[in-house]
Amino acid sequence: MIDTAQAFGVDIGGSGIKAAPVDLNKGEFAEPRLKILTPSESTPQAIGSVLRKQLEHFEIPETAPVGISFPAPVKPGQKLNWIANLDQSWVGVDITEALSEECGRPVTVVNDADAAGLAEQQFGAAKGQEGLVVVTTLGTGIGTALIYDGVLIPNTELGHIELEGGKGDAERYASSAVRERKELSYKKWAKRLTKYYSLIEKYFSPSLIVIGGGVSRKSDNFVPFIDIDTPIVPAKLRNEAGIIGAAYYASTK
Ligand code: BGC
Repeated sequence: MIDTAQAFGVDIGGSGIKAAPVDLNKGEFAEPRLKILTPSESTPQAIGSVLRKQLEHFEIPETAPVGISFPAPVKPGQKLNWIANLDQSWVGVDITEALSEECGRPVTVVNDADAAGLAEQQFGAAKGQEGLVVVTTLGTGIGTALIYDGVLIPNTELGHIELEGGKGDAERYASSAVRERKELSYKKWAKRLTKYYSLIEKYFSPSLIVIGGGVSRKSDNFVPFIDIDTPIVPAKLRNEAGIIGAAYYASTK
């Protein structure tokens, strides 16, 4: 069930789809989250069926705000041009329209890194920060959110900037999935991250960089070895930021 200070948040990722009702006063889960593995063919229909299970599991009423964080740029009313980490059948689809249809109710969709950025800005490591904050999520890909004086600049795709060894794509060189696949030690990975964040630092001169994604739980293993001048801190909401940020965003719509 859900009360008026709550919204439902879902985080669609390359490996898991995680959902929970969120207490918006506290910026935390109101109930333990439910994670279901992302179907290997991650089509709109397959993902839709997972979302329906999650809505049913938590008995989310029709009137509750539902926010979904999605791993691609999100422009309601427009079709997706490309997608890196889910089934290619999403290309040509209006994500918000498709997911609303699948869920049988209007839902709000937001880019996953933007959701994490909003959550960190409202409730976490970027709260009260002036100037430019770059929130990054390290997972299957690299997601980025730019927040300037508390205002989100949506749909930045700085995980795809050109970086040495990445065949033109930083996330193929420095994401958390690459670390796992190549069995890189955390220190070796931190060298790659130093190259990545040095570019972010050079191009954007942020006041703060926040590192999110599941691996931020292990931040002690690699954040101290990222050698840049800008302050860089782990996300406070860790891997919960996508769900909390999506729920928060839906409640503002
Ligand atoms: C996508 C971004 C997303 C990031 C993290 C990238 O491949 O292009 O939109 O935020 O992965 O999931």
